Amino acid sequence: MRTRTLFPSLLLLGAVSLTAACSSGSAGSAVSAPGGDRPGSASSPVRSVDPSKIKGLKIVSDSSEQSSCRFATSYPDVPGAEAMTAAMKKDVEERLAGFRSRMCEDGNSAEGGELNISHRLLVASGDVLGVRLTTQDGSSVGSGLSARTYWYDGKAGASRTALELVADGSRDAFVAALKEQLKGREGVDAASLDDPLSAPASRAAVLDDMAFTADGGLRVTFDRGDVGVPAAGAYTVALFKETITPWLSAFGQRVQRQTVQPSGSLHLGATDVPEPAVPTHTASGDDDTDCKKVTCLALTFDDGPAAPETATLLSYLAQYKARATFFTVGQNVAAHPDLVRAEARAGHEVGNHSWNHPDLTKLTPEQVASQLNRTSAAVKAATGKAPTLFRPPYGAVNAQVKAATTLSPVLWDVDTEDWKYRDAAKVAQTVIDKAKRNDVVLMHDIHPTSVAAVPQILRTLTARGYRFVTVSHLRATL
Ligand code: ZN
Repeated sequence: MRTRTLFPSLLLLGAVSLTAACSSGSAGSAVSAPGGDRPGSASSPVRSVDPSKIKGLKIVSDSSEQSSCRFATSYPDVPGAEAMTAAMKKDVEERLAGFRSRMCEDGNSAEGGELNISHRLLVASGDVLGVRLTTQDGSSVGSGLSARTYWYDGKAGASRTALELVADGSRDAFVAALKEQLKGREGVDAASLDDPLSAPASRAAVLDDMAFTADGGLRVTFDRGDVGVPAAGAYTVALFKETITPWLSAFGQRVQRQTVQPSGSLHLGATDVPEPAVPTHTASGDDDTDCKKVTCLALTFDDGPAAPETATLLSYLAQYKARATFFTVGQNVAAHPDLVRAEARAGHEVGNHSWNHPDLTKLTPEQVASQLNRTSAAVKAATGKAPTLFRPPYGAVNAQVKAATTLSPVLWDVDTEDWKYRDAAKVAQTVIDKAKRNDVVLMHDIHPTSVAAVPQILRTLTARGYRFVTVSHLRATL
């Protein structure tokens, strides 16, 4: 996840070939590919982890819904791994702050700029935890695509870098093997590998994306421009298990073992992991509200589910017998299927808001289908029912996106801009002042301030005769 560095000897060639690289279609791939995998990866798969099995897991999400400032970031917060969470938080917040100052301040052109940071759990078993964050930064030079793996050693109680998977004394041999593999690749000039891979400081920055494959090999991915000509994109080198094993650190050996044969549950030494509250409210039958006769309003909550915010929101909605629509993000559904189940059980509608919140109009039809299908599958696994509606992130939708899915798009009439203000009173007042009969209202249940605004909205508008229905109910009864 190093910031863009073009090595001097490659600058000219890189500049000449940049156009070809940009038009190759690789730029958007990593955002849409499941779990943030990048194109051109080695064939041996990296085992996937079921995040819903991790006790106390929270997904820290931040996003905008505004087309002039498009960002969506996420990383996992696992109890016990605080040092690793802090490292991810620091990296994500720095990138987001940089992006917002470049792209979202008044007067800056935001056209084409989008920041997306998605996460994938690589190992969560025994006393080791591994996460890959994949970043697509449309405000930076070139493809703006980079990835980094973060590691936690529960035995030592310490955060580890990717390079720490390899023993200190074996790193020269390890690097020599990587160079050997890279030398034959198109776009790699053998002499140019010495700079980034030899000096210890740049070595750690370049070798920041490593993970074991399911068969115990090690997959090392180089961000575009870190080695080879930038135009050639990212390079992935896979070392077989027999090759890499003698070079691993004691920590690396434990990660390898837990990747090949996970022992099951994760024990990082966290002493106090609270059980998340999941509301048990059950809707009594179908909603018979007739929106032709009464004043209806459709509240919609995007980007969740989030713990504990979504659970709190569900309890508020139940108090007022209000129904709502949740446009869920697939990577959060995977982490909290119990909350999505609680939404459906309480009579709310569960819609699809993509897997990791990219601008769908920037993706290929296949990538759009993958983003939406993967999320629908996660919702169906949680609730037994697949969504029929989707809300495009940033409200960005075009004919190509619509053609790539059978889901029906839903935009909004009232935008609370709650993600920007983070002010419960302001969010509540916006809805109360602006909402009109049969409107669709946009909010986000990942923000505690938005959830805190809901009781006042429900109290005030109920007193004014409003009834709160799902989007599909509103559409069906109008
Ligand atoms: Zn959103």
